[in-house]
Amino acid sequence: NASRLLGKTVLITGASSGIGAATAILFAKAGTNILLLARREEALKSVQQACVAAHKASGLKEGGEFAPIQLDVSDKAAVAGLWSKVPSTLRNVDILVNNAGYVVGRDHVGEIDESVIEGMFATNVFGLIAMTQLLVRDFKARQAGHIIQIGSVAGREPYVGGSIYTATKHAVNAFTASMMRELVDTPIRVTEIQPGMVETEFSIVRFRGDVNAAKSVYQGLQPLTGEDIAEEIVWAASRPPHVNIAETLIFPVNQA
Ligand code: NDP
Repeated sequence: NASRLLGKTVLITGASSGIGAATAILFAKAGTNILLLARREEALKSVQQACVAAHKASGLKEGGEFAPIQLDVSDKAAVAGLWSKVPSTLRNVDILVNNAGYVVGRDHVGEIDESVIEGMFATNVFGLIAMTQLLVRDFKARQAGHIIQIGSVAGREPYVGGSIYTATKHAVNAFTASMMRELVDTPIRVTEIQPGMVETEFSIVRFRGDVNAAKSVYQGLQPLTGEDIAEEIVWAASRPPHVNIAETLIFPVNQA
């Protein structure tokens, strides 16, 4: 029941494209306020405008405040200083969507640049943990909140050329599952969504801007869209307070 989301405040990392942008627009339609975080300011402003339009079209009076905040989740000082950039009206976050993440390359072990390894861990793991730590302190103090992590099928299964990315997403899975158990005596909910192939800028980033190579991975199947994952996230967030969607795996029908 989406009415449970009315007037809530959502914080989404990686809100400038793909799954994060689609999730923002769907939450906007459901009458929430949103903190939109990512590194690309212009792209965030476009998503903010799309949220304003979606909220207006919904006709809902609740929610409707959308704040783009430029933030690199791998920058520890920036994460620690986040609250100084948040408008006071959006200070009480109800739902954290930890979505920022990426993969670069398909290199085999022994041939992977140190910077590629460190970059993926800095964003996918340390950035996600830093954001979780920041919000969980708040959630514990207020005895409320929902943490939604975007993991991946790569957090369950290995693939050739994916040693580092799969390691980061396995780390997300282990971190999240442990935290869920720690929070069991609180009303705080913890969810991990694990998508299969979703057609977003993800594949373009993976192939370092080579759009044709990015497209080629979807041959023979119809990939998921950012909206498909957004629906899953908004659904999990709108369950009754006693229901915790712990983990979901979502695949294109034809993905092996
Ligand atoms: P996109 O590339 O479209 O989105 C990634 C988002 O993360 C962008 O908004 C990007 O914004 C942001 N981002 C990346 N690094 C940082 C950083 N250091 N600090 C802040 N924001 C950052 O791809 P998706 O939407 O597909 O990816 C979203 C999540 O879904 C990722 O965690 C990914 O691992 C996961 N996933 C994706 C799958 C797919 O097939 N697409 C499958 C399984 C999981 P900006 O560049 O502006 O900072």
